[in-house]
Amino acid sequence: MNENQTPAPPPSHFIRKIIEADLESGKHQQVVTRFPPEPNGFLHIGHAKSIFLNFGMPRDYGGHCFMRFDDTNPVKEDATYSQAILEDVRWLGFDWGNRLTHASDYFEQLYEFACVLIRRGKAYVDSLSAEKIREYRGTLTEPGSNSPFRDRTIEENLDLFQRMRDGEFEDGSHVLRAKIDMAAPNIHMRDPTLYRIRKVSHHRTGNAWCIYPMYDFTHCLSDALEGVTHSLCTLEFEDNRPLYDWVLQEAEAPCLPKQYEFSRLNLQYTVLSKRKLIQLVEENHVGGWDDPRMPSLIGIRRRGFPPESIRLFCERIGISKSENNIDFSVLEDCAREVLNQDAPRAFAVLKPLKVVITNFPEDQVEMLDAPVHPQNPEAGRRSLPLTREILIEEDDFLEDPPRKFFRLAPGKEVRLRYGYVIRCDEVVRDDSGKISELRCTYDPQTAKGAQPEGRKVKGIIHWVSATQSIPTEVRLYDRLFREASPGSKHEDGDFLRDLNPDSIQILKNCRLEAGMKNVERGSRYQFERLGYFCADLKNSSNELPVFNRIVTLRDTWAKLAKSD
Ligand code: ATP
Ligand code: MG
Repeated sequence: MNENQTPAPPPSHFIRKIIEADLESGKHQQVVTRFPPEPNGFLHIGHAKSIFLNFGMPRDYGGHCFMRFDDTNPVKEDATYSQAILEDVRWLGFDWGNRLTHASDYFEQLYEFACVLIRRGKAYVDSLSAEKIREYRGTLTEPGSNSPFRDRTIEENLDLFQRMRDGEFEDGSHVLRAKIDMAAPNIHMRDPTLYRIRKVSHHRTGNAWCIYPMYDFTHCLSDALEGVTHSLCTLEFEDNRPLYDWVLQEAEAPCLPKQYEFSRLNLQYTVLSKRKLIQLVEENHVGGWDDPRMPSLIGIRRRGFPPESIRLFCERIGISKSENNIDFSVLEDCAREVLNQDAPRAFAVLKPLKVVITNFPEDQVEMLDAPVHPQNPEAGRRSLPLTREILIEEDDFLEDPPRKFFRLAPGKEVRLRYGYVIRCDEVVRDDSGKISELRCTYDPQTAKGAQPEGRKVKGIIHWVSATQSIPTEVRLYDRLFREASPGSKHEDGDFLRDLNPDSIQILKNCRLEAGMKNVERGSRYQFERLGYFCADLKNSSNELPVFNRIVTLRDTWAKLAKSD
């Protein structure tokens, strides 16, 4: 960005408008939000949308965001997920300061709120079986009916609830339910369960509890305890809102946070359901949660997407209540925009073809000068050793080229980027008939872009020294699914049938320019003419370096011709 330009204001959306109005009217002095993941899986790009919104609003308007683990389900949760989630949020560039909380931190207070409800005649212990409770609930078209236990006295309820807590009863024998209305059109309001008995230990509270609060009860009260002003969640919680408000009101919460819903992100050519992602990992369709093809944030990070590009993406997709089906290319474009500005350039040859420059002395090394970044002189210079034997891309040579093939062909000339023009004199084949090398001559008069006498050479190709380049493995990724909406075209909805069999291509004989001997894991480059690549984070130092392709370049040829 030019220094004189002020950054464009972020695009507005309905939640910004609500917040602005609340601050303007004095309803709130600051914005307090929370990001509330369940620690039962890794975060994905959909969560990034929620993180960006929840952390972004207090950042933009003043206030803070709680990083709260919604850990009310002791069975599915795991501390390794919690650690990974925190790393992902930090990686995205957000900071919760000292506001790392857990729903389980509030178990004692939640118990007290439940007792308030009981004392006010707004909750009761039900001893129907889970199956019966389901039966009594009714359907969307038929009202439910009251449980025979609904009219227990307050004293009896308090006593039973205490004994539930004390561990006197078996799992499933009793639950605590809100007393609202079994005929309510909104099923969430038909005396929802608030507490259930689960004699299992919890990864944070150990065996302190054998009753655990339900999500709907926990979430709104945790919001209230944290003084959340705007409880931002996805649309599937819209029908839970009346219950959210009811609990806060009836349990006499210290404040009444408001819930606002926005639509979930759906990214085409991938899946964002936790269940489906788990299935991909458990059935080994991918190499793990951090497989660079996964839409998980650890996968995206390992693939090499810069965090700035994810933030740009979140800003660009916006916030609304309408369906949010985003093409994968939107994410790729954000990566290109960020990487084009920041990534140092380098030469890599992925499918090498040997070229012998016959008029170049055998033991000579000529250091050619090139910019690290063509638009940013401050990034410095790099040196490319030119030697008699070099490697070019197999694709940059055609024995029988079509018209307008501006690369190498028998008798034709091409420029080695940042070097000289070479002409192909001879094609050498091995015993099987495969081309094994090209014998070329170079024109010493064509240094620094000078055109050879009387001719204009349009084509420019990248190259590396055959003797001074660095061996590397490169992994080319493509979309994980070949259908925009995986599974949607099959009657059984089986998304696995739409996996893209070519989503990964591993190239083991690649070469990098000489200067890339000690690249740091996680560093990103533009391999000129090929795309953006990232040194794999998992690669150990005693192995061949591995590069993951983040994204291809778009219009490589047009750009190259202009910038030289
Ligand atoms: P589960 O199916 O296990 O509930 P979840 O994807 O909702 O999975 P949570 O850990 O509950 O996972 O999500 C934390 C927060 O992230 C929630 O507020 C949720 O609304 C939000 N979120 C999850 N998926 C998306 C998505 N695709 N787009 C936007 N926000 C999302
Ligand atoms: Mg959820």
